[in-house]
Order: sequence, then C-alpha cells, then structure tokens
Amino acid sequence: MTVRLILAKGREKSLLRRHPWVFSGAIARMEGKALSGETIDVCDYNGNWLASAAWSPASQIRARVWSWQQNESIDTDFFVQRLQTAQKLRDWLALRDNLDSYRLIAGESDGLPGITIDRFGNFLVLQLLSAGAEYQRATLITALQQCYPHCAIYDRSDVSVRKKEGLELTQGVVLGETPPELLPITEHGMQLLVDIQTGHKTGYYLDQRDSRLATRRYASGARVLNCFSYTGGFAVSALLGNCKQVISVDTSQAALDVARQNVELNGLDVSKAEFLRDDVFKLLRRYRDNGETFDLIVMDPPKFVENKNQLNAACRGYKDINMLAIQLLNPGGMLLTFSCSGLMPTDLFQKIIADAALDARRDVQFIEQFRQAADHPVLASYPEGLYLKGFACRVL
Ligand code: SAH
Repeated sequence: MTVRLILAKGREKSLLRRHPWVFSGAIARMEGKALSGETIDVCDYNGNWLASAAWSPASQIRARVWSWQQNESIDTDFFVQRLQTAQKLRDWLALRDNLDSYRLIAGESDGLPGITIDRFGNFLVLQLLSAGAEYQRATLITALQQCYPHCAIYDRSDVSVRKKEGLELTQGVVLGETPPELLPITEHGMQLLVDIQTGHKTGYYLDQRDSRLATRRYASGARVLNCFSYTGGFAVSALLGNCKQVISVDTSQAALDVARQNVELNGLDVSKAEFLRDDVFKLLRRYRDNGETFDLIVMDPPKFVENKNQLNAACRGYKDINMLAIQLLNPGGMLLTFSCSGLMPTDLFQKIIADAALDARRDVQFIEQFRQAADHPVLASYPEGLYLKGFACRVL
C-alpha cells in the first residue's frame, strides 16, 4: 500500500491549480511510513487522491509532485516520456538557434521536480536536488540510457541545496567517457569551452544565451565593460558584434583563463580583450574615481538572494552596482543588467534600476527586456520557475 499524505482542510487549493509542492504546514497527517524520496499519494482532507509525489522528510517542501494521473506509475517509462516531451522543445531550439547544448530538463518546469539535466554536446550533466530525484536515480539513468545511447552521463550534484533534503553532495562519472577538461560547445553559432567537472553549476550559464546574442547588437564600436564575466560568453558576443574593446571582470582566475581561450577559439582579436581578476564592486568605484567611461556595460552578478531575509540587502547590492554602472556610461550608452535571483520580482528589479538612475542623476530608458532562454521554460502553474530577468537600459 502506498503511503498517503493527507492535507489539512482547505490546503488542497494550490494542488488543484497544479502547483507541484506540498509545504510542511499544509499536512494534516501521514498514513503509513515512507522512506526519504519514496513515492507517496497526496490526498485532500477527505481522502480524495490528488497527485503522486516524492516524499522529502528533511525539507520544508515536504513533497514534490511527479504526476497528476492516478494510473501513472513512476518508472522508467514515466521518465522516458518526460524526457521525450522535453527533448522536442530542445530539438526545435537547437535548430532555430544553432546550438548543440541546452538545458534538457529544467526541474519542475519540465514535470521533473528536483532534476536538472544540461546537455553539452554528447555529455549529459545531472543535478539531483531533492530526495525524490535521488531516490529515482537508477530509474532516471536507465531512462537516459534508453533515450541517449550515445551520450555519456556525468553527475554534478555537488550543490548545497541537497543538504536541505538531507542528501550528501556527490560528483563524478555515471556512465561512459570522462568529460574533457574543456569541452567546446556551440551557442548561436559561437564556440565556447565548458568545464563540466569543475566549472560553476553544471559548467556553463546556458540561461543567458539570448542576452549574450542581444549583446552583439549593442556592441558595434563600443568600449565594453563585462562585469561578472565568468568564461567570457558576453565578451565573445561583444567582439562578434564588433566592439572596440571589452574588459571582462571576475574574481575567478580559472574562469578568466577560459574566457581568454574562448576569444581565441572564435578567431577574434585578443588585443581588443582584457581580463581582470577583481571585485566588481571595488573596480566600479575605482573606474568612477579615475573618470573611466564606457559605451556598453554588462552587469550579470551571481544570485544575491538565497532567502527572503536577504532581499533588502540584495536590493541595496543591485542598486549600488547599477548606480555605479550608470555613472560610468557615456551619454547614449547602454546598460544590460540582470538579476538571476528567483526571489527578486521583475517589477521590483525595474524599480531598483530606476532608483539607481535617480541616484546617479541620469535619465534612463528601458528599451528591451530579457529573461532566461527558452530551454528554461516557465510552467504556467509554477511561476517560481521564472528566475532570470534583465533590462537593456539606454542611459542619457
Ligand atoms: N556572465 C556570465 C555568468 C556570470 S555568473 C556568463 O555569461 O557566463 C557570476 C560570476 O560572478 C561568477 O563567475 C563569479 O565568479 C563572479 N563573481 C562573484 N562575485 C564577484 C565579485 N564580487 N566581483 C567579480 N566577480 C564576481
């Protein structure tokens, strides 16, 4: 008998709207005892079946829905079907945008809560982020082998969110070849080297692909400052867009070393590119004090907000760097600014930029809006899936 999770009275509303999470406070009782990650039935207060879900006893998100269909079992076929549905979108995207790498599974948004799979060429890189995802590891891998017989599988579940689920951090080859130190991938026709084993996240920030492409269109003739550059995707884009100069700044020397190689790999003029290991917050102030100016600034910081308590501090951080960037821009210059914090709403981010403009005593026009690329879809019933937003701002 499958263990049953009985919701408190009236707490079925979000599930009826197909939101895939059950929080601890919504549970009236458990009928039976489930192992961590095991599949359970979620029922309303009267015992009506609502969903099958993975049990996460250690997490505040106590259950994550696998299926809304009572007759669907969570087995290899289930994962094969979810993979096939996800793959269709990515096939279309790969053709449209000239790519060989994309997020194949974006967790909840692809109907597989807690599971991230990025595809880099013929390497599938997994992140299993929840107890349920971990519990299904072997089944998922069987499904992946079935769908992608030519692909190697590598695990990058070395992420701290696993601790909230009571899971250890893990990493390593699951199947097939060990990834090379740097794997070349194609994004909108440009070549980029990805370090699957030790790079950030699964190796590369796929979600910024379309903003990088947009950068090409703003770069012509510009002196560009690429803040938080990582491996220089925006720098390569700016060079492809014929910029005059691009300075990339990051605190990670390893990332900057790859950034330089990425410029060379695309046959671009390395003498136009500079790579600075520095703290963006400090560098912007130094540039301001020295009277440096730019025509285009890319501001793509790491996530500032991990939980709601950090939102105020994050607002100050975003305002600070954006105010400094606005001050550094020549009249008519462009600021491409981003927030990848899921807890930062788009309208609040826009307000922060407006406040930054006021403090910088410059007029700013919002002329384009960005979001995560289409291989990071947002499921209508799970709006939290939208985490990355950005604006192209013209500074007068
Ligand atoms: N724009 C990149 C992704 C940026 S991720 C791309 O297109 O791929 C954020 C980057 O900020 C990371 O590479 C991290 O090393 C860097 N970083 C974090 N804090 C920093 C700081 N204070 N100053 C400079 N770089 C920082």
